[in-house]
Amino acid sequence: MIERVGKFRDVAIVGAGPYGLSAAAHLAGLDVQVFGHPLSFWREHMPRGMFLRSPRVASSLSSPNPSLRLQDYERERRADSDGPLPLETFLAYGEWFQVRTAPPIDTREIRLVERDRAGFLLRLDDGEAVRARRVVVALGIEPFAWRPPEFAGLPPELCSHSVDHSDLGRFAGTEVCVVGAGQSPTSGLPASAGSCISRAYFAAFHARYKTASRCVRSGPPHPRGSCRA
Ligand SMILES: Cc1cc2nc3c(=O)[nH]c(=O)nc-3n(C[C@H](O)[C@H](O)[C@H](O)COP(=O)(O)OP(=O)(O)OC[C@H]3O[C@@H](n4cnc5c(N)ncnc54)[C@H](O)[C@@H]3O)c2cc1C
Repeated sequence: MIERVGKFRDVAIVGAGPYGLSAAAHLAGLDVQVFGHPLSFWREHMPRGMFLRSPRVASSLSSPNPSLRLQDYERERRADSDGPLPLETFLAYGEWFQVRTAPPIDTREIRLVERDRAGFLLRLDDGEAVRARRVVVALGIEPFAWRPPEFAGLPPELCSHSVDHSDLGRFAGTEVCVVGAGQSPTSGLPASAGSCISRAYFAAFHARYKTASRCVRSGPPHPRGSCRA
């Protein structure tokens, strides 16, 4: 089979999340190609209606252009800049930033990165390959979702990872046991009047969600690590 090799690039950036988009902004002027779906992890693996944990001043994408901060976007759009930052606003800001900084994004998947005579050869999912002098890998955290072996025997419709959900509405009216009290459950499955979140990893608890919206408007995790709905 004859391999199709695209143009030789100065830099290939693998990943179009916050880090990939920021790297592209800093490398403007070079011949850069960005691969990935823009902010796909934020769009597809975080619960709709979530608020960012990072404060506004720490939620801007990095750029050498000082007028591309989150606050510049909010000022231009006359958007509400008080209170916690909604996920939807961050996504809109990311698109705004991308249009102003990044080269066109190539949504094909990179399957393999190999050393090549003059740099690297990147093999794409459609059989094409791209050569680049340098490669920036900004693939994010999605592949690191950890599913403990203790749960391996449970059917996926009953046992899932927080990364599997962008719409928590499917839990409305059900009983949910949340295991873990890191950022994912506290951002996405926050405690409500009738629920709490365990602090100890395997000290699970029962959360009874009457409705999804009630689940999202919720209180702090339970301090002792377990409670009853
Ligand atoms: C519930 C939750 C809440 C969070 N809240 C915050 C917060 O409030 N503030 C904050 O700063 N951080 C927060 N984070 C962390 C944040 O999500 C990550 O730090 C950030 O997304 C990492 O950015 P990234 O650019 O490295 O990768 P990602 O955003 O994960 O993007 C990965 C990119 O790589 C692309 N890609 C993947 N595989 C391939 C491939 N084979 N070929 C081509 N492209 C590929 C994807 O399409 C995507 O564009 C949160 C995380 C979680 C889970």
